[in-house]
Amino acid sequence: MTLKAGVVGVQGDVSEHAEAVRRAGEAHGRETEVVEIRDSGLAPECDLLVLPGGESTTISRLLRDEGIAAEIVAHVEAGKPVLATCAGLIVAATDAGDDRVRTLDLVDATVERNAFGRQKDSFEAPLAVEGLDEPFPAVFIRAPLIDAVGEGVEVLAEWDGRPVAIRDGPVVATSFHPELTPDSRIHGLAFFENDGVTLPERPTPDQ
Ligand code: GLN
Repeated sequence: MTLKAGVVGVQGDVSEHAEAVRRAGEAHGRETEVVEIRDSGLAPECDLLVLPGGESTTISRLLRDEGIAAEIVAHVEAGKPVLATCAGLIVAATDAGDDRVRTLDLVDATVERNAFGRQKDSFEAPLAVEGLDEPFPAVFIRAPLIDAVGEGVEVLAEWDGRPVAIRDGPVVATSFHPELTPDSRIHGLAFFENDGVTLPERPTPDQ
């Protein structure tokens, strides 16, 4: 069965995430159809969702205005996977430390927006990630830092002793942008190697 992936595209570019999802699916023998989500009604049809980066204040406002926020919450409550990156992590958190961001409470984490110093506003670093054999080339762009995580949250990667990739049940969230390199292993971890998630089965050969 072809999986349906939704990349939330209320703000910013979604094509890199769409490509990364397709490549990760291919690497795991799953065909994936990707749709861009700008309106309500599409997310409930999706098996997996990506909440990309951008500007978290804008994204959180548009998600509420368009009625997509509640659909994403229902998706996670059904045990279906989400990958939230950078501003997506901020929106997915329980506390963004900024009243202008109405968070979705998908991951039990407190984050600090734009937490890296000025000269480190944007940088790339090889990052050791739980579940990956080789370091991941992580691109940080005005990234948030994770200040604290709840008990059920697994820290997948740290930078400078602070979490930058976490998993809370079906949701994987990263401070960095895994879609900006040809390496789709983070998408693979979030969607195809996550025991905590429910994906429709592959078809058996005689179907
Ligand atoms: N600085 C942005 C914010 O706080 C996040 C940056 C990003 O997604 N690359 O919303």
